[in-house]
Amino acid sequence: MKKQIFNFAFISVLLFAFIQNGFSQEKKLPKVIILATGGTIAGSGESSTGSSYTSGKVTIESMIDAVPNIRKLADLSGEQISNVGSQDMSVKIWLDLANRINELLAGDVDGIVITHGTDTQEETAYFLNLVVKSNKPVVLTGSMRPSTALSAEGPLNLYNAVAVAASPESKDHGVMVVMNDKIFGAHSVTKMNTTNVETFEAPMHGQLGDVNFGEVTFYHYPHGLNTTKSRFSADGIKSLPRVDIVYGCADMSPDLIDIMVKAGAKGIVVAGVGDGNMTTATLEAAKRATEKGIPVVRSARVPTGAVLIHGEVDDEKYGTIASDELNPQKARILLMLALQQDKNRTREELQQLFIDY
Ligand code: GLU
Repeated sequence: MKKQIFNFAFISVLLFAFIQNGFSQEKKLPKVIILATGGTIAGSGESSTGSSYTSGKVTIESMIDAVPNIRKLADLSGEQISNVGSQDMSVKIWLDLANRINELLAGDVDGIVITHGTDTQEETAYFLNLVVKSNKPVVLTGSMRPSTALSAEGPLNLYNAVAVAASPESKDHGVMVVMNDKIFGAHSVTKMNTTNVETFEAPMHGQLGDVNFGEVTFYHYPHGLNTTKSRFSADGIKSLPRVDIVYGCADMSPDLIDIMVKAGAKGIVVAGVGDGNMTTATLEAAKRATEKGIPVVRSARVPTGAVLIHGEVDDEKYGTIASDELNPQKARILLMLALQQDKNRTREELQQLFIDY
C-alpha cells in the first residue's frame, strides 16, 4: 500500500512537472515584431492573373492573419511604419525604421521582421546593416506577386522570415533578406529579375542559408562589418547628405557630373562600365568634383566582381575611390553615412571604409 501511494505521488509530481514545462514552453515563444513598410507583399490587384496592381494596400494585421500557423512560431505583433511601394522608400523612413528597431531590440524583443517592396529592399537592408546596434536578427522580406495574385508567395515568405527572426541561430548574421526559401546577407544581396519570384541573389558571396517551411539552416556568416561592429549610427540623425548616382555608358557625357555638383550633391557614385570605368571626359569631370571636396566613388553597372583600386583608373590622380564590392546603390548609402558622420574624411579614409564595409 505504501509503495502504491509512493508511486502515485511520484507519477503526480512527474505529471505536474510535465504540464508546467509544457505551459512554460508555450510562454517562451520568442518575441518577434513585424514592421510593415508596404510593397507588393501588401499589394492588391483587380485580377488574380493580371500583372497590374497597387503596392502597399494591405495592412500588417491582415497580412499576419493570412498566414496559417504563423503565431505558433513566435509571440507576434505588427506595427505599420509606412505603406509605400519601395520605389518611394526614403531616408526619412529608413531613419524611423532604424530608431524603432534599436529601441525594440534594446528591450525584450528577440527579432524583427520588416515587410518591404523588393525594388529597394537591398538598400534598406544595407542601410540597417550599418546602423542597427544589436546582434539579434533583423529580417526583411517581401514578395514579387501581390496578395491577390494566383500563387502569391508573400504568405510563405512572411512565415519563413518570422521563423528566421525567431531562431536563436540567426544571431550575429547582421541584417538579412529572406525570400523564396533563401537567406541572404545585406551586404551581398541584390535584385536580379524584374518579375520572377527567384529575384534575389548574392552573386559574389552566395546565400547565408536556407529556410524551408520554417526550418532554418545557416551555412555562412555575412561579408563586411555590420550592426554591433559598425561604427555608423542613426541616433539623432534627421537627414543624410545628398549623394547622386550617374549611370555609365559608351560616349557618356561629362555634363552629368558637373550638373550634380551644381545641384548640390555632396558625393557622387558612378555606376561605371566594366571595372568602374568612364569616358576620359567624365573622369576629368570627376577630378573637378573631387578637387572641390566632393568625393566620387567608382562603382560598376556590372553585377559581379569588385571594382579594383587603380584598376584602369589612377585613383590618386583623379581623387576617386573604388567601391570594392558595393554596387552603386549600396555605395551611395555608405558614402551618405560616412559624410554625415564626418564630412572631412580624406580620400584614403573613405577608401578604407569601402574595403571594410
Ligand atoms: N514596386 C514594388 C515595390 O518595390 C514592386 C516590387 C515588389 O514589392 O515586389 O514595392
